[in-house]
Amino acid sequence: MSGNDTFTGIVMYRKNYREADVLTKVLTREAGKRMFFLKNGKRPSYALASETLPYTYATYEGRLNPTGLSFLNTAKQATHFRLLNEDIEVNAYATYILSLIDAAFEDRVIITGWFDQILAAFAKLNDHFDPQVISQIIALKLLPDFGVPLQLQGCVMCGELTDEMDFSDKYHGLLCSKHFNTDRHRLNMTPKALYYLRLFSNIDITQVNSINVHQETKVELQRVIDLIYDNTVGIHVRARSFIEQMDTWQQALIASRKPKVGPNNEQQ
Ligand SMILES: [Zn+2]
Repeated sequence: MSGNDTFTGIVMYRKNYREADVLTKVLTREAGKRMFFLKNGKRPSYALASETLPYTYATYEGRLNPTGLSFLNTAKQATHFRLLNEDIEVNAYATYILSLIDAAFEDRVIITGWFDQILAAFAKLNDHFDPQVISQIIALKLLPDFGVPLQLQGCVMCGELTDEMDFSDKYHGLLCSKHFNTDRHRLNMTPKALYYLRLFSNIDITQVNSINVHQETKVELQRVIDLIYDNTVGIHVRARSFIEQMDTWQQALIASRKPKVGPNNEQQ
């Protein structure tokens, strides 16, 4: 098997295939998402075991086939974003981000800009940036690619941008106070959350140096993002459900640590 395509890629996931082989999907910078066949990839002696771990970024050499499976021969300059594999929460968000990319684009569609954003996002996750915020940026920036561009420049009805705006899930955009009556289910967003909604939708992740968003604002943003994805985009990826479960467990854990208030405790 001789292949001489050189490309950079980020490993999205790997799954067992037949007895000893592995299929792995790689987001390549040059050729979009591709599925690779790793002959004997399950064996301990497999030469590229470390370079084909999920979330690895490397320069690969192999054969990119126009149809069917592609093949890997060698890899060099591999970067492992360790925190993405070691921290269960960061791992869940990295998986969620890649699931969204996988859902938004067909394989083989060249998405160089998105490759650079994902690479930057993973570097930030590895540097302990808030994983929820990073995922919110990706989810918002992906909306036009899902065919749901948000109108965030001004009111969807009149174009005005004032201090008193709200977001309408019905119109996928902003409403000024004069037009609040056009959507009685408008979301009543706080100015702070609206500010981040607009900022995140246009931000270039490679340019982000620090982010500090209050918990309440993150919760508010998440509610909007979930609404848009559930109602309009129409996808709820499994990784998102896992994050929701994880949040529930965390809240249950916090609640269980609080001192119990009962008839016996009240007197103490
Ligand atoms: Zn208006």
